[in-house]
Amino acid sequence: MIFRSTEPNISIPEQPITEIVLQRAVEFADKPAMIDGLTGRTITYNSLFNSINKVAAGFAARGFCKGDVVAIYSPNCLEYPIAFQAIASLGGVCSTANPSYTASELAYQLNDAGAKYLLTVPSLYERALEAASQSKVESVFVFGNIEGAIPFSVLLENCDDLPKVEINPKEDAVALPYSSGTTGLPKGVTLTHHNLAANVYQLTSRELISSADTIIGILPFFHSYGLQIFLNYSLYCGATIVVMPQFDLETFLRLVEKYKITRAHLVPPIVLALAKQPIVDKYDLSSLKIITCGAAPLGNELTLECEQRLNCVIKQAYGLTETSPITHINPDEREKIKPGSVGRCIRNTECQIVDIETEKPLGCHEQGELWIRGPQVMKGYLNNPEATAKVIDADGWFHTGDIAYVDEDGYFYIVDRIKELIKYNGYPIAPAELEAVLLSHPAIADAAVIPSPHPSSGEVPKGFVVLKNEATTEEIMEFVAGLVAPHKRIRRLEIVDKIPKSASGKILRRLLVQREIANVREK
Ligand code: AMP
Repeated sequence: MIFRSTEPNISIPEQPITEIVLQRAVEFADKPAMIDGLTGRTITYNSLFNSINKVAAGFAARGFCKGDVVAIYSPNCLEYPIAFQAIASLGGVCSTANPSYTASELAYQLNDAGAKYLLTVPSLYERALEAASQSKVESVFVFGNIEGAIPFSVLLENCDDLPKVEINPKEDAVALPYSSGTTGLPKGVTLTHHNLAANVYQLTSRELISSADTIIGILPFFHSYGLQIFLNYSLYCGATIVVMPQFDLETFLRLVEKYKITRAHLVPPIVLALAKQPIVDKYDLSSLKIITCGAAPLGNELTLECEQRLNCVIKQAYGLTETSPITHINPDEREKIKPGSVGRCIRNTECQIVDIETEKPLGCHEQGELWIRGPQVMKGYLNNPEATAKVIDADGWFHTGDIAYVDEDGYFYIVDRIKELIKYNGYPIAPAELEAVLLSHPAIADAAVIPSPHPSSGEVPKGFVVLKNEATTEEIMEFVAGLVAPHKRIRRLEIVDKIPKSASGKILRRLLVQREIANVREK
C-alpha cells in the first residue's frame, strides 16, 4: 500500500536554491534577517542579499569554479548562511562539518569531499589548519580575524560583477553533509538544488513560518535539519533568526524572552530541559507558540508536560540527511496533531511500510521498514554507487532503516531503528567508526558498538570489547575520548568473552541492542 499526503502535489520550480531563498529579500528589505544572539549584531534582508552577492563575486574573483567544494567547519554564526548561499549561487558545493570534530575527523571529510576551500572561525583555526594540511584544501578563510589567516571579510570587498553560472537544479549538487546511512562509515550525501528547493516548497503547507516570526537558530547549521530550516526555509519565509552558536539553557531562555521568540526548532534533550529544569520558570516564554521537534524520538508524556508548562504547541517532524531532510511533519494546529506521531508525509512524497524480511508492502498498523519516494530524496552518496544502490532501489524508493507504522488517517509513528545508527542528543554517530577506533587499541581483539538508552540524551554509544591484553574499561574509554569529537565518546563499556556474530561474521547488533534495552529497563 502506498501512502501519500492529503495535500495535493505542487509543481516545484526548477530554480537554483539561492534564487528561491532570496526571491522576496527585496520585499523584506530592512527587516532583520539574522541577529547574533550573543552580540546583538544584526543583518537585514537587504544586507543579506548584498553580502551574498559580494561574497560570490569575491570567490569568483579568486578563481572559484562551478562544482568547487567548500567545507564549512564552524558553529552557527551570521556569516554561515551568507557563505552557504554565495557558494550555492556560484554552482559550488558546501560540505558542512561538525565544529566539534577533531583534526583527523575533519581531514577525513575534507579528503572524501574533495574540498578546495575551508571556512572556519578563529577558535577552530589551528585545528582547521592541521586538517587542511592533510588534505588538498588550497585556502582557509576565517569568519572574524586571527593573525595569519585570510578573513572571510576580504570577500566582501569585491566590486566585481557576479559571473553568470548555468545551474542545472536537478543535477547539480549544492550541499554535501555527511551521514553513515544504514551501515558503515560516514558518507557524503549529495543534495541537489532541486532537493533543497523541493523541501522548501513542501514545508510551506505544514510549517507556517512567516515574516512576523522570530525564530531561534540553535540547531546546528551543519546538520541537515538546521541547514534546511535556517539557511533556506526561514530566510525564504522572511523570518528573523536569532542565532546561537551553541546550546546553553540559560542563554536560550534569556534570548527567547528578550527577542520574543515565536517558534523554536529543537531536539528532544532541549524539550526535556524545558519541561523539567526549575530555571525555566524565571523567564517569560509566553511569546513561544510552536516548537517543532525532530532528529530523534520525543516521548508523549514529555511532550504534554512541556506543552502544559510553556502553553505552546509541540509537534514532531521526521526525516533524514538523505531526504533534505523532512519527509513527515505535523501541521501547526493542535487539533490536527496526533500524540506520538511524526505526522503525515508531506506533499509530493510517497511512503510504504514493508516487511523487513520479505519486503512485502504492509497495511495500516503493521510495523515494518519505512520507504520513501519524493523529490527531496538525495541524488546519492558521493562517489559511492554501491552504498547508494543499497538504500535507493530501482523504483526510486529510499529505504530509511527505520521501523514505523501508519494509522488509518495516514499518520506515521516511528517505533524503532534497524540500521546501525546512534543518536546522542540528536547528533548522529556511526557505530562502525567507533568500532574502528576501539580496534586500534593494542589490547582489543574484537569490538562492537551499539546505542544504549539514556534518560536525557536519548542514546549513548556503548562498546563491547574482547581483550587480548589487559586493559580497564576506564583506560579504553579515555583512549577513545582522545581520538573522537566529544559527542562520539564511548560512555558505557563492557568487557565480554566474545561478540555475537552471524555465520558470515556480521555483528548481531539487534541481539546486543535488545539485551541492552532489557538490562537498562531492569536497572
Ligand atoms: P540524520 O541523518 O542525522 O538526520 O538522522 C536521521 C535519523 O534520525 C532517522 O533515520 C531516524 O532514525 C532519526 N529520527 C529523525 N527524526 C526522528 C523522529 N521524529 N522520531 C524518531 N526518530 C527520528
